[in-house]
Amino acid sequence: MALITYLTTIKFGFGEFAGIEADLAALGVAKPLIVTDRGIVAAGLIDAVGKKAGRLKEAPVFSDTPTNPTEEAVEAALACYRRHGCDGIVAIGGGSPIDLAKGVALLATHDGPLETYAAILGGIAKVTASVAPVVAVPTTSGTGSEVGRAALITLKDGRKLGFISPHLIPRLAICDPELTMGLPAWLTAATGMDAITHCIETYLSPRENPPAEAIALDGLTRAAAHIARSVRDGSDRDARREMMMAALEGGMTFQKGLGAVHALSHPLGGLKQVSLHHGTLNAVLLPAVLRFNAPAAAAKYREIRRVLGLAPDADLAAWVAELVAILGRPGTLTAMGVPREVVPAIAAAATLDHSSATNPRPATAADYAAMLEASF
Ligand SMILES: [Zn+2]
Repeated sequence: MALITYLTTIKFGFGEFAGIEADLAALGVAKPLIVTDRGIVAAGLIDAVGKKAGRLKEAPVFSDTPTNPTEEAVEAALACYRRHGCDGIVAIGGGSPIDLAKGVALLATHDGPLETYAAILGGIAKVTASVAPVVAVPTTSGTGSEVGRAALITLKDGRKLGFISPHLIPRLAICDPELTMGLPAWLTAATGMDAITHCIETYLSPRENPPAEAIALDGLTRAAAHIARSVRDGSDRDARREMMMAALEGGMTFQKGLGAVHALSHPLGGLKQVSLHHGTLNAVLLPAVLRFNAPAAAAKYREIRRVLGLAPDADLAAWVAELVAILGRPGTLTAMGVPREVVPAIAAAATLDHSSATNPRPATAADYAAMLEASF
């Protein structure tokens, strides 16, 4: 059986954010909490766009979202939400504020602790339709979280867990490429590689969903054609629009499930000793994972080579590594400062991650350790 759902309301295009006041009214949100991070505030985005519209003008702002969202930050934002009597959330930023907003929207209407709702702990069925409404406004082109069912949040004990439910999908995604025009080159590259990884991993997932696979290939095609352009010249509006569409399409395919790259990057992102950017991690891990998965997905690899315009026998892993080098991003875990001694623990955690189940080739802890070692 194929279970296919599409998905939520998406407004896409330059200038779409300007209509948010009417969008909030339509959703019945009278007192929104803005959830964002310090980078977005420092970039002036909240002042420039977030505070323009009526309801947002007076809205409280929670800007303490960490690079990787934590349970502590969810609780702090929830306290802010309650203190101001909010009835909805506008998440403005990359994947971290959007994921954090989902956690707040969940606990605003569901009894804690957060762990109760973790996917691998049987929490999916406990999330009900009463989740507070979230409007997601991505300011990067990568996460896909604006249309995704999942929030990745690090618990107080250090586990980075997935919270997954159709009820966690934002009620509205406003994808306005204008908001990405000021994104620095490194973040454009890193988040763009996250989008590429989403499209590849969901396409390779064995879960049956041909519409999602078509979307994933379309997203991959757009991203491959425009990522270098958007990194080279951030003012290239066509490239910015195409990258935002690629990221959105990556997110629209999450229901197929991701794979070994994300099974590894989730626990790595939870490390306390070093703060690792999710998209950068995925770009580093993708070549080793592609080499591991090759025997299990020959026909799909041929299709990926076809849409990328590569030779039928081209090495996809080498293509990724070369792209990462062209974008000027780190190519190894060593370059990212990951200590080698974490390998056994990360490999073990990867086998328990929800994304591991949809990797096209089953991977043991030893397999994950080998993929990590190949990425140093
Ligand atoms: Zn990702």
